Amino acid sequence: MAVVHPHTFLQKHLSAMRIKSGFSLSVLSLALLGCSSTTPLDPIIGDTGQPLSQVAQKADVKSYLLDLEIFPDEQKIAGVGETEFVLVAPSDKVELKLDSRFAISRIEVNGNNAQYQRQGGVLTIILGAEQQAGATVKVAVYYSGKPHVAKNAPWAGGSVWSKTASGQHFIATAVQGEGCDLFWPCKDHFSDKADRMQIKLTVPKGLSAVTNGVLQKTEEVPGNKQRFDWLLSVPASDYNIALNIGPYSRISETYQSINGATVPIEFWALTENADKARTLIKDDVRGQLAFYERVLGPYPWGDQKMGVVETPHLGMEHQTVNAYGKGYKRDEYGFDWLLHHELAHEWFGNLMTHEKLNDAWLHEGFGLYMQPAYALDKLGITAYHYQMYKSYLGLQNCDPIVRSGVVTSDQAFNPDIYGKGGWTLHTLRNLIGEEAFWQATRELLYGTADTAKLQYPIKPRYRNTKEFISIVNRITGRDYQWLFDVYLYEAALPELQQQQNGDSVTFSWLTPNKKPFPMPVEISINGQTQLLDLSKGAITVAVQSTDQLLVDPQMKVLRQLPIIGLCEENRAKVKNKRAQ
Ligand SMILES: [Zn+2]
Repeated sequence: MAVVHPHTFLQKHLSAMRIKSGFSLSVLSLALLGCSSTTPLDPIIGDTGQPLSQVAQKADVKSYLLDLEIFPDEQKIAGVGETEFVLVAPSDKVELKLDSRFAISRIEVNGNNAQYQRQGGVLTIILGAEQQAGATVKVAVYYSGKPHVAKNAPWAGGSVWSKTASGQHFIATAVQGEGCDLFWPCKDHFSDKADRMQIKLTVPKGLSAVTNGVLQKTEEVPGNKQRFDWLLSVPASDYNIALNIGPYSRISETYQSINGATVPIEFWALTENADKARTLIKDDVRGQLAFYERVLGPYPWGDQKMGVVETPHLGMEHQTVNAYGKGYKRDEYGFDWLLHHELAHEWFGNLMTHEKLNDAWLHEGFGLYMQPAYALDKLGITAYHYQMYKSYLGLQNCDPIVRSGVVTSDQAFNPDIYGKGGWTLHTLRNLIGEEAFWQATRELLYGTADTAKLQYPIKPRYRNTKEFISIVNRITGRDYQWLFDVYLYEAALPELQQQQNGDSVTFSWLTPNKKPFPMPVEISINGQTQLLDLSKGAITVAVQSTDQLLVDPQMKVLRQLPIIGLCEENRAKVKNKRAQ
């Protein structure tokens, strides 16, 4: 998901949480009002990635087909969603999810009308007789209605029905937290990616419909309409599937990948902004791709496209068609941070996907850290530190980055998975060095550190935090579990305590739950730098009270400093800002 400057992010995130926490109160009003696009979401629909039911676990999604007509004036959609399942265990039913505000006219199984049950957003489709493991089942759901309107996309997601400056329809979907079932029938879980997805979108003539994958053809449809047929032939999480409709110009260029392949760059910009989009490709997209390919490896979806589409919301990592709604404004970082952040997710999120929501920092911590890493590469150390310092000031330290048990997507997207996740990586990089850091990162993504010549298709993989830790330990030949134990699994930051006793200072780490933390720290005394080895606990150094003592002069280590408060104070700060 797009991150914004720390405080703005917190504000928006908290408002999204507030909206969602109100859902449980709304059951009565839902029953009274009936379903409209403004009816609050059923919690089961509004929260993606929750544990799969027993029925859902028995069927693996092979492919999806979505054939939709979009009616912008009515803010309505209608069509059919087909799912091809292969059963992994015997079953007499399969399960899909679809927001209960849609009307379903019929459901077919392998071409025949089928019985189904509908409980809220859960569709249980009866197969007739029990089917054996290995059987293929094709389910088609014919539906129509007004999709849930986003309260604050992309953070509180849904459909966005907007207009361009010249008054034309400008429409998008962004459903990372809520999931695909907000507008199409799907499994609604990142753990089961379809191998391929066909998306056919019919829109009024004059508008273009842009989505994931490769545009196969466009066709005139009676009634002054046009259909856009897309095919995504690589696995993708279902929350990544997005509709984007507007008066677009398609800008097509190519990029020579590090692996030798020619990768299509496709930017769908509002026609009035086409020149700005061309400039963005020239100034930003190419340099950013080159950076990512050099430090990580080939752009993962080079046999599809490196796609960007202009949207009426800020941005989202929609695989092969990243949403871009920042208005082409050059920002203070010296490059387009939004484009860069969403592009990071093609690797962290789409090529490598967290196994569970608990590991969401693998998407967002890396996703955020890649921007200062790029600043360092492009502009140097001052630009790097500027971004790191800014993200430090936004840390909350109220919840651990990696929590145990079942978490909601709101809990998973705790703001610290961004900044504190990034600071964990910053500290790790300083500790283990450039080579080991990027090597571990490449292994996390591709399963090998030797990535430059990997050819398409490149296989996506699931990962969890433990795997990343074991990769780091294997590559470095040392055990860094202690670093992750304190930074990822505890809410509070470690604090380096200093005690002046006459002509000496004793340094020691104070950690939550007294966890071991042998983190070395540089200190500078009167301009002379030395490394404190804290591996055996407290260490005492001769320092006169008149000496100039500077601890960690380059802020290499994430720790509690008085420039940010503890959790409660940080929370109150956000609340006060909200009240202003
Ligand atoms: Zn993100």
